[in-house]
Amino acid sequence: MSSWRKLSVSGLSLLCRRSRLPPNLHLGSHLSRLHKCYFPPHFVSCSGHHRLFPESRVFGRFSCSSESGNGRCWNCGTAAALAEPFLSCRACGSVQPVDQSVDYFQIFGLEKGYDIPDGNLEGKYKDWQKKLHPDLVHSKSEKEKTFAADQSARVNDAYRTLNKSLSRALYLMRLEGVHVDEEKTVMDPDLLAEMMDIREAVEEASDSHALKQLQTQIERKFEAWANSFREAFKRKNFDDAINSIQRMRYYDRAIEEIIKKL
Ligand SMILES: [Zn+2]
Repeated sequence: MSSWRKLSVSGLSLLCRRSRLPPNLHLGSHLSRLHKCYFPPHFVSCSGHHRLFPESRVFGRFSCSSESGNGRCWNCGTAAALAEPFLSCRACGSVQPVDQSVDYFQIFGLEKGYDIPDGNLEGKYKDWQKKLHPDLVHSKSEKEKTFAADQSARVNDAYRTLNKSLSRALYLMRLEGVHVDEEKTVMDPDLLAEMMDIREAVEEASDSHALKQLQTQIERKFEAWANSFREAFKRKNFDDAINSIQRMRYYDRAIEEIIKKL
C-alpha cells in the first residue's frame, strides 16, 4: 500500500512507525525564515537603527529615536497631537517616527486576541497602504520620508504577523513575555512518524488533486491544534499553548511543502 493510500485510509493516523527519525524533517524552511522575523522575547528592534533594546525600556517612556514615545510631536512638541498610532502630528502636520509602544493589534485597531473578525485585517491594512503611500510624502524632508518608510515597514510587519494563524499565535505569546522555541523538536514519536508519512505522501502524490486532498487533511489537523492554542491562551495556560504552537508549526511546514508542489 502506498503512503498516500495509507494516509487516505488512516486519515493521517499512524500505520507505519520508524525507529530512526531525522532530526530535521526538511519540510520547508518557512519556519526558519519566520524565526528570523522574531526577535528574542525580551528585545524589540528600533526601526531604522537595527539595534536591540530591552523591551521594558521601549515599552516605557524610552524610545530609540528619543523623538517619540512620550506622546509629543518631535517637531512642535505638542502633547498628544498624534491623530493615530503613526502618521503625522495634528498640530503641525510633520510625519512622526514609529512608536514602538504601539503593538500590532493596536496598529489595526483590533482587540488583542487570537481571533480576528473576517475581513477586518485586510480592510484596515489597505487603509494603511493608502495613508502611507510614498507619493504623499514626496515633498517632505528626508527625515520625515525616513519616518514614513519606517511606518510603512512596521505596518507591513504587523500585517504579515497577524495575517497568519501561526505567526499571530507566536506574537500573542511574545506580548505575554513567553518565549516559544520554534525550532525545538517535539519529542512525540507519533507526531514525528506522522510527519514522515506526510512527507512521503507529498513526494509520491501523483497529481494536484491528490496534493489538495492531502492539504485539506493536514489543514484540519492544523486547525485542531489552533483551536487548542486558542483555548489554552484564553486560560493563560502557556505550557499547553506552547505545545499547540509547536504542533501547528509541524503541520504548517507540511502545508507549505504541498503548496510548493502544487
Ligand atoms: Zn507637531
